Amino acid sequence: MSEILFMIPVFKQMIWGGNKLGSKWGYEIPGENTGECWAVSAHPNGDCTVKEGAFAGKTLSQLWTEEPQLFGGAAGDRFPLLIKIIDANDDLSIQVHPDDTYAGKNENGSLGKTECWYILDAPEGATLVIGHNAKDKAELEDMIQNGKWEEFLREVPVKKGDFIQIDPGTVHAIKGGIEILETQQNSDITYRVYDYGRLQNGKPRELHIDKSIDVITVPAKSVAESVINISTDAKNTMNPLILCDYYQVWKLDVDGSMEVSQDYSFLIMSVVEGDGQINGHPLKKGDHFILPNGFGKAQLQGKMELIASTVV
Ligand code: ZN
Repeated sequence: MSEILFMIPVFKQMIWGGNKLGSKWGYEIPGENTGECWAVSAHPNGDCTVKEGAFAGKTLSQLWTEEPQLFGGAAGDRFPLLIKIIDANDDLSIQVHPDDTYAGKNENGSLGKTECWYILDAPEGATLVIGHNAKDKAELEDMIQNGKWEEFLREVPVKKGDFIQIDPGTVHAIKGGIEILETQQNSDITYRVYDYGRLQNGKPRELHIDKSIDVITVPAKSVAESVINISTDAKNTMNPLILCDYYQVWKLDVDGSMEVSQDYSFLIMSVVEGDGQINGHPLKKGDHFILPNGFGKAQLQGKMELIASTVV
């Protein structure tokens, strides 16, 4: 039987990061201001390594190239998804991502970025930025060029357990105090629209105003189309969160035991709460692994919450 591929994450320090990835998740973080845990990633800016077993020490990008059978020969020249945990101690910059066509043409053949967020934790009264209020391209340009941020940005309330889909062209930003699990296309292309005038090492971070104006969708999708409220409390089953062109994502609440039938090209899983076992192997909050192609049945036991995903 094929082995479970446990991942060693890569950590990123960010001006808006904090220390919860250490204090709440038990990871060995590189220092304060750790904003991102790249938990399952084959991106050149953060390539995860297999922790144990026959492939121990190999990177995920290596496995994608050298052992395509693990992923059922899924299409593409690179591992298609990237899973992150983000701890926003402060507000992230206001940003937008291009689609595959725009990124391919303007960013050296990179993929575009569609992403989605499962809100792991949020303070009382938390909000984040999703979409904008400009009615047409002219108004969009005016609001951005003249810094009318209050008018431009659409802030929506969020709470733990909300799920948000962010298509390319969607203006978005996580605000301080929010913790998310992000499932995204394997891309690192972000256009920064506004950074609250903050300085990093005494200088403002680069903005990408022209590219942002190129790619922002006008008018924005409605809030109802972006923030998805689905019941995810059914226990011991795979609760679907979304199916889009790039990924399929589920939430699992294990209480006792459940069986997962791994019939997909591959199945990524992240333990986001609690602990338990998979086929007798201990699992705890913060573990991330891939069930390879042909894995068959997996027995999950314990009391834990997981987010799972696969490519479409
Ligand atoms: Zn983003």
